Amino acid sequence: MKKTLADINVKGKKVLVRVDYNAPLDANLKITNDKRIVAAIPTIEYLLKKDAAIILMSHLGRPKGKVVPEMSLKPVAARLGEVLGKPVKFVGGDCISAESKKAAADLKSGEILLLENLRFHPEEEGKNASGEKDKAAMNAFSKELASMGEVFVQDAFGTVHRSHASTAGIVKYVKDAAAGLLVEKELKFLGETLENPARPFLAILGGAKVSDKISVIENLLGKVDAIIIGGAMAYTFLKAQGVNAGISLVEDDKLDLALELLKKAKERKVDFLLPVDHVITNKVDFANKSVPSAAKVESTVDEAIHEGFMGVDIGSKSIEKFAEVIKFAKTIVWNGPLGIFEIDEFSKGTVAVAELVAEATDEGAISVVGGGDSVSAVKKAGVDKRISHISTGGGASLEFLEGKELPGLAALPDKK
Ligand code: AMP
Repeated sequence: MKKTLADINVKGKKVLVRVDYNAPLDANLKITNDKRIVAAIPTIEYLLKKDAAIILMSHLGRPKGKVVPEMSLKPVAARLGEVLGKPVKFVGGDCISAESKKAAADLKSGEILLLENLRFHPEEEGKNASGEKDKAAMNAFSKELASMGEVFVQDAFGTVHRSHASTAGIVKYVKDAAAGLLVEKELKFLGETLENPARPFLAILGGAKVSDKISVIENLLGKVDAIIIGGAMAYTFLKAQGVNAGISLVEDDKLDLALELLKKAKERKVDFLLPVDHVITNKVDFANKSVPSAAKVESTVDEAIHEGFMGVDIGSKSIEKFAEVIKFAKTIVWNGPLGIFEIDEFSKGTVAVAELVAEATDEGAISVVGGGDSVSAVKKAGVDKRISHISTGGGASLEFLEGKELPGLAALPDKK
């Protein structure tokens, strides 16, 4: 177990907090969604109660080691101030400039400072000014950041799968470090749930590609009682077993792997459920996520998809079949939509499954949803408030499900 806020002394201290303020901005640099800013509020409020002086650090976008004025965190400082109802100090330009360091040194208990975008420095991502990998440059940058505070709090779950100067490197240069409240919650649900799940334990996996989720399937096969596969991924598994998949998005180079995974599931007595019918069409405008007016949309009677058609959603029999497993599950982990849910006509399967997961949760199951698209899907279904935990980090939650070590967490000290 990693140290959490309750395990470290922050009272009256200068606390460096890594947050994920990678908020989407429009062309006028207005924040279009502040959920990441809101997500880290509990940690900030905890630290304010402890009279800490709070120095927030984040990246925004991909400036690739250069100062890109449009990727400044200035609008984030303003929005954070509005959300907290308290001024947030901000120094532009360079997060480790003499001016930034002075602002940090002058910061008093109960005050908040947000440093400028960390990724304006190539060292944040482990490179030097010439763009080459450079561990020494990264360490020096970590040290500079660490010099501005006394203790470090990791609350940027969205970046804990990155081994960067401010996520992992900094820990060795501070007196103490811990997970913030947001990361602690993610660890509780993604970590403890996976390690010690109430059974039956069900994983629902969807999305576009098997190749993106091979490691997730492999890791979960050793833990779950059942796996439901939907989305385009399902067609690779069906085709591998000789079922006609028409022009569905099949990864032909992954057919053998799909068979191997099916074999492993059988050996481990994991119930591996694939759709038994589908909604199909002969045309999709993938770029605009729409159905061209000339397209034919049909439902199949069984697994097979006829020539010239592709599977775009699970059918009604599949929903019924999946419902029988979902309603008895006591732990449910879900990543990836079961169809092209962005198109209303093809979102019925995903929305039905979201409702079923919410119903199981109402009955006492623990449900964890991760990945940007699955999160949008539960929101689209209007059931997001009924899910036990919605992970804030797409990439990080996927790597968690893969059983990988996440550098930003691994670097934190263990509880005594
Ligand atoms: P991922 O990021 O791997 O979770 O994939 C999410 C994407 O998969 C979404 O944009 C969905 O539209 C897409 N998707 C789901 N089912 C299908 C399908 N049957 N055919 C094509 N794309 C799909």
